[in-house]
Amino acid sequence: MTQLKLARQGTVSPQMKHVADKERLDADLIIQRVAAGEIIIPSNVRHANLVPCGIGKGLRTKVNANIGTSSDSCDLDTELRKLQTAIAFGVDTVMDLSTGGDISAIRRAITHASTIPVGTVPVYQAGIEAIDNRGAIVNMTVDEIFAVIEEHAKDGVDFMTVHCGVTQASLVRLKKQGRTTDIVSRGGAFLMGWMLHRNKENPLYEYYDRLLELALEYDFALSLGDGLRPGCLADATDRAQIQELIVLGELVERAREAGVQTMVEGPGHLPLDQIITNVQLEKSLCRGAPFYVLGPLVTDVGAGYDHITAAIGGAIAAAAGADFLCYVTPTEHLSLPGIQDVKEGVIASRIAAHAGDIAKGVGGAKEWDEQMSRARKSLDWKTQAALSLDPELSREIHARIPASGTTCSMCGKYCAMAIVEKYLGISTPQC
Ligand code: SF4
Repeated sequence: MTQLKLARQGTVSPQMKHVADKERLDADLIIQRVAAGEIIIPSNVRHANLVPCGIGKGLRTKVNANIGTSSDSCDLDTELRKLQTAIAFGVDTVMDLSTGGDISAIRRAITHASTIPVGTVPVYQAGIEAIDNRGAIVNMTVDEIFAVIEEHAKDGVDFMTVHCGVTQASLVRLKKQGRTTDIVSRGGAFLMGWMLHRNKENPLYEYYDRLLELALEYDFALSLGDGLRPGCLADATDRAQIQELIVLGELVERAREAGVQTMVEGPGHLPLDQIITNVQLEKSLCRGAPFYVLGPLVTDVGAGYDHITAAIGGAIAAAAGADFLCYVTPTEHLSLPGIQDVKEGVIASRIAAHAGDIAKGVGGAKEWDEQMSRARKSLDWKTQAALSLDPELSREIHARIPASGTTCSMCGKYCAMAIVEKYLGISTPQC
């Protein structure tokens, strides 16, 4: 019985209760929104140590960190340290995007170690195994794709990106569109090559019911991938992207009818002024399904700082109603992220999500900032550090140049807080 089916019959599952308690919302509201498909709780029945997390309408905006090996860098210990770093800095989910080494063993180790929901993109593994065993992605069979999906499900993966909307019709639109960067999604590229070489429909679209059966059995959520997402500002909100989104909207409805939880993935690269429109389009075409945006990056020229370009876009998207942000690290477009990059990506994306939550009026968001402001006003450095997203860094920077009194070295004895306190007398700094 999936969370969606339980909600429809009015049963409060332990997962729903946990989400309601954590978000300080009424359990009835959570049930209603899970039943309507506006909230999902990705929780594979086989993920034993999972602490559930809700994604969707009215909930705190969630953040995902992508980890995993590549063909050029493969070390399980490093990936497990990335997982622990991401969790330590408050990420809500991780995706294991491993494409190097023993992909199954790495996924099992990450899922086993993870208390937060784990996502994957099974077509990566299916494509890589086809290359390893028979020389090319195009030799991947439909049964092999579904066997890998089932393997991920059995390993306890809580949500899977499936690029079901990359259809033959979408590819016709893509070719006519004449894009600058064509396809930047790895999963989308794998499937596009397979479809064009074989002149066949996308198996994840053609055999969608088979996918739904597996999702029903294990209650993993479908993350309907945007294989045709824009990979640069010039390709944003074009016909190919919207064609895919229309298909995804139809697939959301079929999943809901079957009792399967779904969310929808979105851009990518978007100019600032197109972000709100993209959120509205998804919410309208996909009937309120949770929206999971990859950034979005608001400029193409931020290499080395793309956690910042993505956080700018993420904040606007979250404020407009996006429910879930995929982090971007400083190494985006350049290299596989290291541990420090994971930390910076998580912090940047959490800032974006929180900024969005303040604008959305999510319970507790504004209050957090008010507590910080009161601590600043009273020059309470201990509380300021405790309330910050990175307490250790906050303490380290404050101590870098010691101040003579209880202020900081920015203004020293001319501290505005201390001067105003002296004449207005609200708090009691000792400087
Ligand atoms: S010294 Fe300046 S920056 Fe530091 S707490 Fe006082 S007003 Fe703020």
